[in-house]
Amino acid sequence: MSTHTIRVFGDPVLKQRASEITDIDQAVVRLAEDMLRTMYDAPGVGLAAPQIGVQKRLFVYDIDDRPEVLVNPVVSESRGEWEFTEGCLSVPGVYFDIVRPKEIYITGFDLEGNEVAIEADEYTARVFQHEMDHLDGVLLLDRLDDEQRREAMKTLRDIALASSPEPVVKSSRLSLRK
Ligand code: ZN
Repeated sequence: MSTHTIRVFGDPVLKQRASEITDIDQAVVRLAEDMLRTMYDAPGVGLAAPQIGVQKRLFVYDIDDRPEVLVNPVVSESRGEWEFTEGCLSVPGVYFDIVRPKEIYITGFDLEGNEVAIEADEYTARVFQHEMDHLDGVLLLDRLDDEQRREAMKTLRDIALASSPEPVVKSSRLSLRK
């Protein structure tokens, strides 16, 4: 098992639809283990395969202190509305209130190939819907209204500026060496 770098906003892999897993083999089991380790390391409560650059329909989560995996998940029913503050490991530092369905019915497969059906509501339903979005190439930013998106882009710029190691000083040092 190893941990992976989590892909962040701007990486094209996050904007593509992931493809169905046709065979739950050892490679998929290993991928799930790596994803869980990467998720706990972050830390986060859910992680979808595209977030580590793998275009497969698979996500992992831990909501009740138990590592779980869902392969080829499908949401077949959704009901109600619920507002919740969402963040995303691929859009670090940005949190917004997002309205989504309150209850969902989701099916998929576990790593043994057994069919799994879960009726989820509120927080659990929210985690599932967020991870489903990743499998469809949809980011938290795509769920924002215009004003929220402007605010998000400003926050992302500020974070990028704060974390870049003084690029101006760096380039002047380089020019001194010439
Ligand atoms: Zn996310």
